[in-house]
Amino acid sequence: MALTIALTSDETKTNTTTQTNAKTVAKLNPYAENAFRRIVEGNARFSQGLKTNPNQDIDKRLEVAKGQVPHTIVLTCADSRLSPEILFDQGLGDLFVIRVAGNVADQFTIASIEYAAEHLHSPLLVVLGHERCGAVAAAVGAYESHLKSDSHTEKPAENHGDEHANITALVKKILPSVLEAARTSGPILDKAININVENTISDVFTHSPLLRRLSEEAKFSVVGGTYDLDDGRVTFTAPRDAKTLVRIH
Ligand SMILES: [Zn+2]
Repeated sequence: MALTIALTSDETKTNTTTQTNAKTVAKLNPYAENAFRRIVEGNARFSQGLKTNPNQDIDKRLEVAKGQVPHTIVLTCADSRLSPEILFDQGLGDLFVIRVAGNVADQFTIASIEYAAEHLHSPLLVVLGHERCGAVAAAVGAYESHLKSDSHTEKPAENHGDEHANITALVKKILPSVLEAARTSGPILDKAININVENTISDVFTHSPLLRRLSEEAKFSVVGGTYDLDDGRVTFTAPRDAKTLVRIH
């Protein structure tokens, strides 16, 4: 009985994920649609244990040594369980990958995306968060400790002697997503992870006139996604562009 329930639950989730991803394909610009299909199909192979490890032989290495045309840009967390080439079953020259804890976007991250979109003509950006993200969990922890503490006074400003100044800066960057998640009922972490992906997409468009223009010209699309560490599946949100930008902070 337990097995039946588990299978049913898994099947339901698979169908939901497939439907969500199909909807995403329908709204992408034509340049990005093919790229997105490759990503979705590769993730399906990976999650089912059917990886084909494409584009990893010597011929491909020699081919891309002459130049790269990555079909998708991926901005994701530095978490060791999230290697995009593995979980999307891609190879050399396929993905332009930017990784940073908490998949947040700063000026250099956005510059990297701009380079790939403008000069390498990559039509699709995937911003990928993941289940049980340590960076987002740290921000949730900071929020909860703040609630428990009697004094809500601000800590002194960081200085060069603060060993945790850099991690504190990362936590502060993610904190608005946690505060937004905390305004609804239920556990915060999963909601904060999804909101953090949306806020990163918002940051990318907000701080990049170039990417807004490419989006308006239907040459650049963005989708958000969340990776399930247990079953290996990525669930994507509907595409985001400069017009559907909903969060400016
Ligand atoms: Zn993470």
